[in-house]
Amino acid sequence: SSITNITIVGTGVIGNGWITRFLTNGYKVTAYDPAPGAEEKTREAVRSAWDYAGKLGLKEGASEENLTFEEDLGKALAHADFVQENVPEREELKRSVIASIDEHAPKHAVISSSTSGILPTVLQADCAHHPERVIVGHPFNPVYLMPLVELVGGNKTEDSFVDKAQEFYEGLGMKPLIVHQEIEGHIADRLMEAVWRESLHIVNDGVATTEEVDASIVYGPGLRWALMGPFMTLHMGGGKAGMRHLLHQFGPALKLPWTKLEAPELTDELAEKVITGCEAQTEGVDMQKMEERRDDFLVELQQLLEKYWP
Ligand code: NAD
Repeated sequence: SSITNITIVGTGVIGNGWITRFLTNGYKVTAYDPAPGAEEKTREAVRSAWDYAGKLGLKEGASEENLTFEEDLGKALAHADFVQENVPEREELKRSVIASIDEHAPKHAVISSSTSGILPTVLQADCAHHPERVIVGHPFNPVYLMPLVELVGGNKTEDSFVDKAQEFYEGLGMKPLIVHQEIEGHIADRLMEAVWRESLHIVNDGVATTEEVDASIVYGPGLRWALMGPFMTLHMGGGKAGMRHLLHQFGPALKLPWTKLEAPELTDELAEKVITGCEAQTEGVDMQKMEERRDDFLVELQQLLEKYWP
Protein backbone atom coordinates (compact mmCIF):
# COMPACT_ATOMS: atom_id res chain seq x y z
CA SER A 1 0.00 0.00 0.00
CA SER A 2 1.02 3.66 -0.20
CA ILE A 3 1.31 3.86 3.57
CA THR A 4 4.82 3.94 5.05
CA ASN A 5 4.89 6.46 7.88
CA ILE A 6 2.43 6.36 10.73
CA THR A 7 1.91 9.03 13.34
CA ILE A 8 0.35 8.30 16.71
CA VAL A 9 -1.17 11.18 18.66
CA GLY A 10 -1.77 10.26 22.31
CA THR A 11 0.22 7.38 23.80
CA GLY A 12 -1.93 5.99 26.61
CA VAL A 13 -3.29 2.44 26.81
CA ILE A 14 -4.70 2.50 23.26
CA GLY A 15 -1.99 4.59 21.57
CA ASN A 16 0.67 2.22 22.92
CA GLY A 17 -1.32 -0.80 21.74
CA TRP A 18 -1.46 0.67 18.22
CA ILE A 19 2.26 1.49 18.31
CA THR A 20 3.05 -2.15 19.14
CA ARG A 21 0.76 -3.40 16.38
CA PHE A 22 2.32 -1.05 13.78
CA LEU A 23 5.91 -1.80 14.80
CA THR A 24 5.46 -5.59 14.77
CA ASN A 25 4.05 -5.17 11.27
CA GLY A 26 7.26 -3.50 10.17
CA TYR A 27 6.10 0.12 10.01
CA LYS A 28 7.93 3.28 11.06
CA VAL A 29 6.06 5.13 13.77
CA THR A 30 6.33 8.70 15.01
CA ALA A 31 4.59 9.45 18.30
CA TYR A 32 3.44 12.62 20.02
CA ASP A 33 2.16 12.97 23.61
CA PRO A 34 2.83 16.06 25.74
CA ALA A 35 2.68 14.21 29.09
CA PRO A 36 6.02 14.16 30.94
CA GLY A 37 7.65 10.72 30.78
CA ALA A 38 5.38 9.59 27.93
CA GLU A 39 8.22 8.20 25.81
CA GLU A 40 9.62 6.04 28.62
CA LYS A 41 6.19 4.66 29.45
CA THR A 42 5.54 3.83 25.82
CA ARG A 43 8.87 2.07 25.34
CA GLU A 44 8.17 0.01 28.45
CA ALA A 45 4.65 -0.86 27.25
CA VAL A 46 5.91 -1.87 23.81
CA ARG A 47 8.66 -4.00 25.41
CA SER A 48 6.25 -5.91 27.61
CA ALA A 49 3.67 -6.46 24.82
CA TRP A 50 6.20 -7.36 22.10
CA ASP A 51 6.39 -11.13 22.63
CA TYR A 52 2.60 -11.45 22.74
CA ALA A 53 2.09 -9.32 19.66
CA GLY A 54 4.85 -11.33 17.99
CA LYS A 55 2.87 -14.54 18.43
CA LEU A 56 0.53 -13.25 15.73
CA GLY A 57 3.62 -13.05 13.51
CA LEU A 58 6.40 -10.50 13.12
CA LYS A 59 6.67 -8.88 9.68
CA GLU A 60 9.94 -8.27 7.93
CA GLY A 61 11.77 -5.29 9.39
CA ALA A 62 9.75 -5.31 12.62
CA SER A 63 11.74 -3.49 15.27
CA GLU A 64 11.14 -1.51 18.44
CA GLU A 65 13.75 0.86 17.07
CA ASN A 66 11.43 2.10 14.34
CA LEU A 67 9.73 4.32 16.93
CA THR A 68 10.57 8.01 17.24
CA PHE A 69 9.02 10.54 19.62
CA GLU A 70 8.56 14.16 18.56
CA GLU A 71 7.90 17.03 20.95
CA ASP A 72 6.29 19.15 18.28
CA LEU A 73 2.97 18.06 16.77
CA GLY A 74 3.72 19.67 13.39
CA LYS A 75 7.05 17.84 13.13
CA ALA A 76 5.43 14.57 14.20
CA LEU A 77 2.95 14.88 11.34
CA ALA A 78 5.20 16.22 8.59
CA HIS A 79 5.64 12.87 6.78
CA ALA A 80 2.51 11.05 7.92
CA ASP A 81 0.61 8.78 5.54
CA PHE A 82 -1.71 7.57 8.28
CA VAL A 83 -2.53 9.19 11.63
CA GLN A 84 -4.13 7.36 14.55
CA GLU A 85 -5.54 9.70 17.22
CA ASN A 86 -5.88 8.36 20.79
CA VAL A 87 -6.27 11.31 23.16
CA PRO A 88 -8.70 11.07 26.12
CA GLU A 89 -12.40 10.63 25.31
CA ARG A 90 -13.50 14.27 25.71
CA GLU A 91 -15.34 15.79 22.78
CA GLU A 92 -13.85 19.31 22.97
CA LEU A 93 -10.31 17.99 23.30
CA LYS A 94 -10.68 15.53 20.45
CA ARG A 95 -12.23 18.11 18.14
CA SER A 96 -9.40 20.55 18.69
CA VAL A 97 -6.64 17.92 18.46
CA ILE A 98 -8.12 16.57 15.21
CA ALA A 99 -8.38 20.11 13.81
CA SER A 100 -4.64 20.60 14.54
CA ILE A 101 -3.79 17.25 12.97
CA ASP A 102 -5.77 18.33 9.89
CA GLU A 103 -3.77 21.56 9.80
CA HIS A 104 -0.37 19.79 9.85
CA ALA A 105 -0.75 16.41 8.16
CA PRO A 106 -0.16 16.05 4.38
CA LYS A 107 -3.52 16.09 2.63
CA HIS A 108 -3.32 12.46 1.46
CA ALA A 109 -2.96 11.22 5.06
CA VAL A 110 -5.87 9.35 6.63
CA ILE A 111 -6.82 10.68 10.07
CA SER A 112 -8.35 7.87 12.10
CA SER A 113 -9.75 8.40 15.60
CA SER A 114 -9.85 5.60 18.19
CA THR A 115 -12.92 7.15 19.83
CA SER A 116 -15.17 4.67 21.62
CA GLY A 117 -18.32 6.67 21.19
CA ILE A 118 -18.09 10.04 19.44
CA LEU A 119 -19.53 10.43 15.93
CA PRO A 120 -17.08 11.12 13.09
CA THR A 121 -19.32 13.96 11.85
CA VAL A 122 -18.71 15.67 15.21
CA LEU A 123 -14.96 14.94 15.17
CA GLN A 124 -14.40 16.41 11.68
CA ALA A 125 -16.60 19.48 12.24
CA ASP A 126 -13.72 21.85 13.13
CA CYS A 127 -11.34 20.72 10.38
CA ALA A 128 -10.66 23.73 8.17
CA HIS A 129 -8.59 21.92 5.54
CA HIS A 130 -9.42 18.32 4.62
CA PRO A 131 -12.25 16.91 6.77
CA GLU A 132 -12.90 14.31 4.02
CA ARG A 133 -10.00 12.18 5.37
CA VAL A 134 -11.27 12.00 8.96
CA ILE A 135 -12.72 8.64 10.00
CA VAL A 136 -13.29 6.63 13.16
CA GLY A 137 -11.07 3.53 13.47
CA HIS A 138 -12.24 2.11 16.78
CA PRO A 139 -10.02 -0.69 18.17
CA PHE A 140 -10.32 -3.02 21.17
CA ASN A 141 -7.95 -3.44 24.06
CA PRO A 142 -5.31 -4.92 23.81
CA VAL A 143 -4.95 -3.44 20.33
CA TYR A 144 -1.85 -5.52 19.55
CA LEU A 145 -3.94 -8.72 19.83
CA MET A 146 -7.60 -7.91 19.17
CA PRO A 147 -8.54 -8.15 15.47
CA LEU A 148 -11.68 -6.01 15.35
CA VAL A 149 -11.54 -2.38 14.26
CA GLU A 150 -14.79 -0.51 13.50
CA LEU A 151 -14.56 1.94 10.60
CA VAL A 152 -17.03 4.79 10.43
CA GLY A 153 -17.16 7.81 8.14
CA GLY A 154 -18.91 11.12 8.89
CA ASN A 155 -20.98 13.44 6.69
CA LYS A 156 -17.87 14.92 5.11
CA THR A 157 -15.83 11.71 4.83
CA GLU A 158 -14.94 10.50 1.34
CA ASP A 159 -15.33 6.74 0.85
CA SER A 160 -11.87 6.44 -0.66
CA PHE A 161 -10.37 7.15 2.78
CA VAL A 162 -12.49 4.46 4.41
CA ASP A 163 -11.35 2.04 1.68
CA LYS A 164 -7.73 3.00 2.21
CA ALA A 165 -8.03 2.45 5.98
CA GLN A 166 -9.77 -0.87 5.46
CA GLU A 167 -6.97 -2.16 3.26
CA PHE A 168 -4.34 -0.85 5.63
CA TYR A 169 -5.90 -2.44 8.75
CA GLU A 170 -6.40 -5.74 6.91
CA GLY A 171 -2.69 -5.70 6.15
CA LEU A 172 -2.09 -5.59 9.92
CA GLY A 173 -4.01 -8.84 10.31
CA MET A 174 -7.10 -7.03 11.62
CA LYS A 175 -10.80 -7.53 10.84
CA PRO A 176 -12.20 -4.13 9.88
CA LEU A 177 -15.95 -3.81 10.23
CA ILE A 178 -17.44 -0.96 8.23
CA VAL A 179 -20.27 0.72 10.14
CA HIS A 180 -22.51 2.28 7.49
CA GLN A 181 -24.51 4.52 9.77
CA GLU A 182 -22.82 6.49 12.52
CA ILE A 183 -24.30 5.97 15.98
CA GLU A 184 -22.92 6.75 19.43
CA GLY A 185 -20.86 3.77 20.59
CA HIS A 186 -20.68 2.29 17.06
CA ILE A 187 -21.71 -1.40 17.18
CA ALA A 188 -19.61 -3.46 19.60
CA ASP A 189 -19.53 -0.90 22.41
CA ARG A 190 -23.26 -0.49 22.05
CA LEU A 191 -23.63 -4.21 22.76
CA MET A 192 -21.07 -4.22 25.57
CA GLU A 193 -22.79 -1.21 27.10
CA ALA A 194 -26.07 -3.13 27.27
CA VAL A 195 -24.43 -5.98 29.19
CA TRP A 196 -22.53 -3.49 31.37
CA ARG A 197 -25.72 -1.60 32.29
CA GLU A 198 -27.58 -4.79 33.19
CA SER A 199 -24.57 -5.96 35.22
CA LEU A 200 -24.67 -2.72 37.23
CA HIS A 201 -28.40 -3.14 37.87
CA ILE A 202 -27.88 -6.71 39.08
CA VAL A 203 -25.17 -5.61 41.53
CA ASN A 204 -27.09 -2.46 42.54
CA ASP A 205 -30.24 -4.47 43.26
CA GLY A 206 -28.23 -6.88 45.42
CA VAL A 207 -29.06 -9.83 43.15
CA ALA A 208 -25.44 -10.92 42.71
CA THR A 209 -21.84 -9.87 43.42
CA THR A 210 -19.44 -8.65 40.73
CA GLU A 211 -17.77 -12.07 40.91
CA GLU A 212 -21.06 -13.91 40.36
CA VAL A 213 -21.96 -11.72 37.39
CA ASP A 214 -18.52 -12.40 35.87
CA ALA A 215 -18.91 -16.16 36.42
CA SER A 216 -22.27 -16.11 34.65
CA ILE A 217 -20.54 -14.87 31.50
CA VAL A 218 -17.20 -16.70 31.71
CA TYR A 219 -18.70 -20.19 32.11
CA GLY A 220 -21.81 -19.45 30.09
CA PRO A 221 -22.50 -17.19 27.12
CA GLY A 222 -18.90 -15.94 26.98
CA LEU A 223 -17.70 -19.35 25.82
CA ARG A 224 -20.16 -19.38 22.93
CA TRP A 225 -19.67 -15.73 22.11
CA ALA A 226 -16.00 -16.46 21.40
CA LEU A 227 -17.21 -18.41 18.36
CA MET A 228 -20.65 -16.99 17.52
CA GLY A 229 -22.42 -13.68 17.99
CA PRO A 230 -25.89 -13.27 19.51
CA PHE A 231 -27.73 -14.18 16.30
CA MET A 232 -26.00 -17.49 15.48
CA THR A 233 -26.00 -18.46 19.17
CA LEU A 234 -29.79 -18.11 19.33
CA HIS A 235 -30.33 -19.59 15.85
CA MET A 236 -28.75 -22.75 17.25
CA GLY A 237 -30.75 -22.38 20.45
CA GLY A 238 -33.85 -23.00 18.33
CA GLY A 239 -32.72 -26.53 17.49
CA LYS A 240 -33.08 -27.88 13.96
CA ALA A 241 -35.72 -25.26 13.11
CA GLY A 242 -33.33 -22.53 14.22
CA MET A 243 -34.35 -18.92 14.69
CA ARG A 244 -37.88 -19.61 13.37
CA HIS A 245 -38.57 -21.90 16.32
CA LEU A 246 -36.69 -19.74 18.79
CA LEU A 247 -38.71 -16.62 17.97
CA HIS A 248 -41.92 -18.62 18.22
CA GLN A 249 -40.95 -19.81 21.68
CA PHE A 250 -39.19 -16.77 23.12
CA GLY A 251 -40.67 -13.93 21.08
CA PRO A 252 -43.34 -13.30 23.73
CA ALA A 253 -40.62 -12.94 26.42
CA LEU A 254 -39.41 -9.80 24.65
CA LYS A 255 -42.44 -8.09 26.18
CA LEU A 256 -41.46 -9.17 29.71
CA PRO A 257 -39.45 -6.76 31.88
CA TRP A 258 -36.26 -8.85 31.70
CA THR A 259 -33.94 -6.01 30.94
CA LYS A 260 -33.82 -2.45 32.22
CA LEU A 261 -31.25 -1.07 29.75
CA GLU A 262 -31.52 2.47 31.12
CA ALA A 263 -28.36 2.71 33.22
CA PRO A 264 -28.82 2.85 36.99
CA GLU A 265 -27.70 6.08 38.61
CA LEU A 266 -24.01 5.79 39.45
CA THR A 267 -24.34 6.62 43.16
CA ASP A 268 -21.28 6.60 45.45
CA GLU A 269 -22.72 3.50 47.03
CA LEU A 270 -22.95 1.63 43.72
CA ALA A 271 -19.48 2.75 42.66
CA GLU A 272 -18.06 1.54 45.98
CA LYS A 273 -19.84 -1.81 45.66
CA VAL A 274 -18.45 -2.35 42.16
CA ILE A 275 -14.92 -1.21 43.04
CA THR A 276 -14.63 -3.28 46.23
CA GLY A 277 -16.19 -6.23 44.41
CA CYS A 278 -13.60 -6.10 41.64
CA GLU A 279 -10.76 -5.53 44.10
CA ALA A 280 -11.87 -8.55 46.10
CA GLN A 281 -11.85 -10.62 42.89
CA THR A 282 -8.26 -9.64 42.15
CA GLU A 283 -6.94 -9.61 45.71
CA GLY A 284 -3.33 -10.76 45.83
CA VAL A 285 -3.18 -11.04 42.03
CA ASP A 286 -0.62 -8.94 40.21
CA MET A 287 -2.22 -6.88 37.38
CA GLN A 288 0.79 -7.60 35.18
CA LYS A 289 0.17 -11.33 35.68
CA MET A 290 -3.49 -10.84 34.80
CA GLU A 291 -2.51 -9.09 31.58
CA GLU A 292 -0.15 -11.92 30.71
CA ARG A 293 -2.87 -14.48 31.33
CA ARG A 294 -5.34 -12.49 29.21
CA ASP A 295 -2.82 -12.16 26.38
CA ASP A 296 -1.85 -15.85 26.38
CA PHE A 297 -5.54 -16.73 26.32
CA LEU A 298 -6.32 -14.30 23.48
CA VAL A 299 -3.51 -15.69 21.34
CA GLU A 300 -4.70 -19.28 21.80
CA LEU A 301 -8.32 -18.29 21.34
CA GLN A 302 -7.54 -16.71 17.98
CA GLN A 303 -5.75 -19.85 16.89
CA LEU A 304 -8.86 -21.81 17.89
CA LEU A 305 -11.06 -19.34 16.04
CA GLU A 306 -9.04 -19.84 12.86
CA LYS A 307 -9.32 -23.59 13.28
CA TYR A 308 -13.08 -23.68 13.84
CA TRP A 309 -14.15 -20.64 11.79
CA PRO A 310 -11.72 -20.67 8.87
P1 NAD B 1 -5.46 7.14 28.20
O1 NAD B 1 -5.92 8.10 29.23
O2 NAD B 1 -4.78 5.87 28.62
O3 NAD B 1 -4.46 7.89 27.18
C1 NAD B 1 -4.69 9.15 26.65
C2 NAD B 1 -3.32 9.79 26.30
O4 NAD B 1 -3.53 11.00 25.58
C3 NAD B 1 -2.47 10.13 27.52
O5 NAD B 1 -1.17 9.54 27.38
C4 NAD B 1 -2.39 11.65 27.48
O6 NAD B 1 -1.14 12.16 27.97
C5 NAD B 1 -2.54 11.92 26.01
N1 NAD B 1 -2.96 13.29 25.66
C6 NAD B 1 -3.75 14.14 26.38
N2 NAD B 1 -3.90 15.30 25.70
C7 NAD B 1 -3.20 15.18 24.54
C8 NAD B 1 -2.98 16.03 23.42
N3 NAD B 1 -3.50 17.26 23.37
N4 NAD B 1 -2.20 15.57 22.41
C9 NAD B 1 -1.65 14.34 22.44
N5 NAD B 1 -1.83 13.48 23.48
C10 NAD B 1 -2.60 13.90 24.51
O7 NAD B 1 -6.74 6.82 27.30
P2 NAD B 1 -7.04 5.50 26.41
O8 NAD B 1 -7.75 4.50 27.24
O9 NAD B 1 -5.80 5.12 25.70
O10 NAD B 1 -8.13 6.09 25.39
C11 NAD B 1 -7.77 6.84 24.25
C12 NAD B 1 -8.89 6.78 23.23
O11 NAD B 1 -9.12 5.43 22.84
C13 NAD B 1 -10.24 7.29 23.73
O12 NAD B 1 -10.89 7.99 22.71
C14 NAD B 1 -11.01 6.04 24.06
O13 NAD B 1 -12.40 6.20 23.92
C15 NAD B 1 -10.49 5.11 22.99
N6 NAD B 1 -10.59 3.66 23.32
C16 NAD B 1 -10.27 3.20 24.56
C17 NAD B 1 -10.37 1.83 24.84
C18 NAD B 1 -9.97 1.27 26.18
O14 NAD B 1 -10.33 0.11 26.46
N7 NAD B 1 -9.23 1.99 27.01
C19 NAD B 1 -10.79 0.95 23.83
C20 NAD B 1 -11.08 1.45 22.55
C21 NAD B 1 -10.98 2.82 22.31
